Amino acid sequence: MLSTAQSLIRRAGEKLGLSQTEIEKLIAPDREHVFEIVVGDRKLPAYRVQHSRKFGPYKGGIRFHPEVHLDEVRALATLMSLKTAAVGLPLGGGKGGVAVDPKSLDDAALEEVSRQYARTLVPHIGPNQDVPAPDVNTDARIIDWMADEYAKVTGDTSGAAFTGKSVGKGGSLGREAATGRGGVIATAELLQAKDEADKPLTYAVQGYGNVGAFFATIAASEYPEWKLVAASDSSAGVYAEAGLDAKTLDRYKAGGKRFSDYTGATVVTNDELLALPVDILVLAGLGDAVTERNMAAVRARYIIELANGPVNEAAARHLDGRGVTILPDIIANAGGVVVSYLEWLQNKAGEQWSEQEVNDKLRTSIVKAVEKMLATSRTHTVPLKEAAFIMAVERLTRG
Ligand code: NAD
Repeated sequence: MLSTAQSLIRRAGEKLGLSQTEIEKLIAPDREHVFEIVVGDRKLPAYRVQHSRKFGPYKGGIRFHPEVHLDEVRALATLMSLKTAAVGLPLGGGKGGVAVDPKSLDDAALEEVSRQYARTLVPHIGPNQDVPAPDVNTDARIIDWMADEYAKVTGDTSGAAFTGKSVGKGGSLGREAATGRGGVIATAELLQAKDEADKPLTYAVQGYGNVGAFFATIAASEYPEWKLVAASDSSAGVYAEAGLDAKTLDRYKAGGKRFSDYTGATVVTNDELLALPVDILVLAGLGDAVTERNMAAVRARYIIELANGPVNEAAARHLDGRGVTILPDIIANAGGVVVSYLEWLQNKAGEQWSEQEVNDKLRTSIVKAVEKMLATSRTHTVPLKEAAFIMAVERLTRG
């Protein structure tokens, strides 16, 4: 993922005529904080990479996952700088993580990990310095602990040092659904540009977690002509040509039931799901889902990168060559950071906006970014992913 992100920056920089020194400056993170969290007799590697703050505080989530490592956090921090730049937010990019499987911790240990993470970083984060948010396996409860720890140590109770808090603790209405909603808005804009907006289309979701599930439930209510035919999580995948009900899948997840129990659907492996004859493949799991290993099997005409970095560079080239349109992560999943930004603004102003107001602002931001990406793609005759990176690199270097 890191090499894909860096290579895209290099290509964009070269297209814009930047010098090698300028390109290397764009790639290098400002600071990397590497530390350990001690919980019981375990020592957990922890990270915060602050990539760029050219336009405002570093911004990016914190991931709790056993496979978190420095290179992954670097890649995700870099993508955040590109994302905030591509969408035109007055924010920079950063990312954090703890190498832990949260399921291996009881509630008290999970709270301790969260509080220690925030406490250690207090000198380096804050409303105008670095504003972390949730990511994979971190949610409003974890962010509330972190925000509370930050407030205890610093006395700053504005809540503006973290976004993704619960609504009662200064979180924004619409934040939880924002990444999925932004993905739906971006997909609809893309289909509109391709003259496919009103066609009945089928789609599959790899990674039916927070983002994937919101994408599917919002799509079901706003674009009923898109038919969800397959969905997977890390345990199983299901396929039904007649369609799956997004809300039923949600209930399965909430109730701890396996997708394989879904009545009327066939169980598929993740590799089989990626190879289904669907119009749209929504990648909402983790990075590097489509690589040299499985790219030839993909049959979708559109790929929506809701996860960060789910298609690696070689696979993107191969798919572009076959005429597959990839809606890039830094636009497709930017809804989360857009509403994080709105939460931060609300906290700073001591306000709470309605969900409708938040959703309207989200729509305006995403539509504008997609339009700009499509125009950049036409001007430079490049695929959408390269266009999004050109937009971002242009803003990061030329303001
Ligand atoms: P999540 O943990 O809620 O969901 C991830 C889902 O992917 C889970 O259902 C998991 O079981 C599934 N999964 C993992 N590996 C898989 C595999 N190999 N095959 C199939 N399914 C697999 O996390 P999330 O918050 O929904 O984030 C998903 C992705 O979106 C991540 O890449 C994240 O960085 C990105 N993202 C999230 C946000 C946000 O606001 N949460 C914002 C931008 C980007």
